[in-house]
Amino acid sequence: MKQLMQTLQQIDGKGYKAYKSIQGHYKFSDFDLYVDYVQGDPFAAPSKIRVVIPARKRPMKEDWLQSRLRNVAVEDILARKVGYAIAKSNFSIKGSGKSGSIQFDRPGQEVLERSAVQADSSSITVCISVGLPANGRKINGKEAEKLFTQAVPDILRNSIFTITDDDIEHAVQLADQQQAIIEAMRRNNWIAFIANGSILPRESGVSNRPLKKAVPFQSPKDNEVEIEVPHREEPITGMAVEQGITLIVGGGYHGKSTILEAMERGVYFHVQGDGREYVLTDPDAVKIRAEDGRKVTGVNISPFITNLPHRQDTTFFSTDNASGSTSQAANVMEGLEAGATTLLIDEDTSATNFMIRDERMQQLVHKDKEPITPFIDKIRQLRDQHQVSTILVMGGSGDYFDVADKVIMMEAYVPYNVTDEAKSIVQSRPINREALEDTAFGDISSRIFQQKSLQTRKGNKSKTQAKGLTTIIMGATDITFHDTEQLVDSSQTRMIAEMIQHLERTNALGERTLYQLLDDIEQQMDQKGLASFTAFQDQHPGDIARPRRYEIAAVLNRMRTASIKQTH
Ligand code: ADP
Ligand code: MG
Repeated sequence: MKQLMQTLQQIDGKGYKAYKSIQGHYKFSDFDLYVDYVQGDPFAAPSKIRVVIPARKRPMKEDWLQSRLRNVAVEDILARKVGYAIAKSNFSIKGSGKSGSIQFDRPGQEVLERSAVQADSSSITVCISVGLPANGRKINGKEAEKLFTQAVPDILRNSIFTITDDDIEHAVQLADQQQAIIEAMRRNNWIAFIANGSILPRESGVSNRPLKKAVPFQSPKDNEVEIEVPHREEPITGMAVEQGITLIVGGGYHGKSTILEAMERGVYFHVQGDGREYVLTDPDAVKIRAEDGRKVTGVNISPFITNLPHRQDTTFFSTDNASGSTSQAANVMEGLEAGATTLLIDEDTSATNFMIRDERMQQLVHKDKEPITPFIDKIRQLRDQHQVSTILVMGGSGDYFDVADKVIMMEAYVPYNVTDEAKSIVQSRPINREALEDTAFGDISSRIFQQKSLQTRKGNKSKTQAKGLTTIIMGATDITFHDTEQLVDSSQTRMIAEMIQHLERTNALGERTLYQLLDDIEQQMDQKGLASFTAFQDQHPGDIARPRRYEIAAVLNRMRTASIKQTH
């Protein structure tokens, strides 16, 4: 530390580039400081530092680190405390550009594996970015000293050094309970679970926090189950959704989309106080929606679309500008290709002609003039031939009563099981739709992305960079995925950008099918960690979080530069 202070005094008032000399490792009394990367000027992306707190200063119980799951929970709660301490920190360090700014990858409502904090039995590592202080373009050594000797220690004092064992214990216990629910779901073939008392609606369209004064969730009696979980006496009670086809109906504004959205997010664990702590969904559930204008490359959409005008090939379908129905068909087929076992669909974001085609329309427009086989005519084949379940919100058409296994009605935010009523309506008011009941679902693509898909060069530089949650700039083109709704954190987007850059650098797209590639990526994350995809893995990996395979696939599938080798 003394050495750092000396250097700062020496370079005080010099040109900003002289800051490069502080790169290195320094010992403070309570922690070690690593200055991994120094920004080039006061306006550039801030410098990266790591603070390593040895176990003797903040011991970790062995119990907390005994599984990956618990480790993630511990790192998450530590990261929350650090994020909170930084937000509350009132040191004002002044200067030009980003002088004194302190940035940290603070978790949102989901508990994700992320790199901002790493905890093991020997130490806790916290990755922070700081704007090194300057006056104009000259180094302000005094303010830098304040940053390292006051602001950073203060943040640690208010987070890592004061978090109680109880706080950590609670996070670990919640993760254990969430995992117990997932396991109970697996044993019982349930694809979703919503505990009674859960708060599903969010504060607003832009806030992921719970709505205050919401009506708490209450399961219909017929769907109610009990799950034994650790760390509490009574089991957790709530609604289980079984495998198969579940229809959610109800009047407009009665909470249909809200319950579906909660299930979409249930593929992730949520933090204590979120309201969705005990809302869990098949981890392989994928939201399917229409997405006009998206790029599609080499996807077999023929189960849904055939005989397009001008004889476009729908077994290897490509377009720069998909329509509502073709984009939704591609989204289904790509989800299945990546391994989805549950599809989640909301009428609000679906193409009507993809979802339904009623009796009258069938009479007027003959089948050989209609390229689309609607989802309703494939939903059972998906269930029976591919063991893929569907949860579908549909308030506008009763045609799906015929194919549903269960019907749930939302009424003033309360669900009712109306399966029997719906089935008796089917009996008393039969419809004469021509359905394609016993046909095969059709083939699912198994594509190989060719290495040349990854065009990360711009000029003579190779660069892939996340821009917010839903864009990645790859070389000279943007990949956009604004409708990939289960991507929830921009740190996941940064991780996917790192993956693309890694696949390019290691020339690794190779001869693997997309499915195999996703398996390999998941295995690398499991075994070598998220940072193994970054270029400087022993240094600050800082601000990345784990995405699911479905969202990684979603990004690759939307590359405008994709080039596919056809396998069958
Ligand atoms: P639908 O899809 O049936 O038209 P939404 O799910 O969009 O209805 O819900 C309509 C409104 O009701 C939304 O503003 C939502 O936040 C609110 N809402 C949903 N569930 C609840 C609840 N349990 N308590 C209070 N408000 C809710
Ligand atoms: Mg709705």
